Amino acid sequence: MGLVVQKYGGSSVADAEGIKRVAKRIVEAKKNGNQVVVVVSAMGDTTDELIDLAEQVSPMPAGREFDMLLTAGERISMALLAMAIKNLGHEAQSFTGSQAGVITDSVHNKARIIDVTPGRIRTALDEGNIAIVAGFQGVSQDKKDITTLGRGGSDTTAVALAAALDAEVCEIYTDVDGVFTADPRVVKKARKIDWISFEDMLELASSGSKVLLHRCVEYARRYNIPIHVRSSFSGLQGTWVSNEPIGDKQVEQAIISGVAHDTSEAKITVVGVPDKPGEAAAIFRTIADAEINIDMVVQNVSAASTGLTDISFTLPKTEGRKAIDALEKNRSGIGFDSLRYDDQIGKISLVGAGMKTNPGVTAAFFEALSNAGVNIELISTSEIRISVVTRADDVPEAVRAVHTAFGLDSDSDEAVVYGGTGR
Ligand code: ASP
Ligand code: MG
Repeated sequence: MGLVVQKYGGSSVADAEGIKRVAKRIVEAKKNGNQVVVVVSAMGDTTDELIDLAEQVSPMPAGREFDMLLTAGERISMALLAMAIKNLGHEAQSFTGSQAGVITDSVHNKARIIDVTPGRIRTALDEGNIAIVAGFQGVSQDKKDITTLGRGGSDTTAVALAAALDAEVCEIYTDVDGVFTADPRVVKKARKIDWISFEDMLELASSGSKVLLHRCVEYARRYNIPIHVRSSFSGLQGTWVSNEPIGDKQVEQAIISGVAHDTSEAKITVVGVPDKPGEAAAIFRTIADAEINIDMVVQNVSAASTGLTDISFTLPKTEGRKAIDALEKNRSGIGFDSLRYDDQIGKISLVGAGMKTNPGVTAAFFEALSNAGVNIELISTSEIRISVVTRADDVPEAVRAVHTAFGLDSDSDEAVVYGGTGR
């Protein structure tokens, strides 16, 4: 008998109908002879609503209480789902993250899983139950406080449980049919990918693709857990994410896996920095000490007459205020003229391991952007990715142009978005 872990996202369990639909699917998996562990997210936009509520009573809620509040969302869906399954005549038990043995560090709002001890889940399964686990939460090892894993963290819960229970597969059910060659909300002709390597999936995730979180893919790669991303609304085969293609189908690694985009970043330009050793170090030490992660960096050529240069970098918009404040505070130490903040930018990335061995990919990428009349502000590359920053307004057009130029368009409009408010 196989053990499968299934994860259902918020849009799949948005209302009572959704919960009943998902319950039927879970029972099917059980009837097919599997032991089934289900990880569930909060219903629909519940998490956002709870955050709004917290902000109404306090501008800066304490991390501990914030986590206590947010984990309530998943408790609601897990209990309802267990009830719906029982109503179909099958045994089910729900468990909080803590009860399921998800042990984390004590960093509230973005805790990391440090151990999974799923003893109670094993027992529940051995007694013939379907085990339902609240996603996105755990309990801290030292203080025994309730923690959350960061937005979208249920995927990570699912993969972590799959690893701890030695599951055959971790199925991630969502509101699209799998991983697409571009965001189907932007590119109508995006194509579903049958199989993608962990490596390319990681790069897509860190370039803005939202279908799987980077952390979840990282975890799956570390423990070699194949992920099957598929829709809970259709019965279709989705996308397999694994080290090697799975099954009898000989799928070849595509040269280009897809085009990702990201409009969640902003750009800070430090203007009038003396062009001498130690300046970049001073700027990025200041940013690092404020615990801010940056993405791209460019330094302009210094003007010979003044000996001054500009340094630009990108970072999450949510960290913009903090970064500006930290730099301003260190202005005399670093020595710069002024700061410019720009949050009307977008990033477009082309991803594919085939880039390493196929000359001309970079040229074709820039030609596609140029033909679409898109101006480029920053460029960065890795072995298997090339990214540019453009005006935010140009992003949809740029993504479509690159997608077409690399022959990724499908013949039909197969990309369906079944649910979700995209909130
Ligand atoms: N409910 C949480 C969120 O919306 C966790 C998740 O959906 O994975 O971020
Ligand atoms: Mg959610």
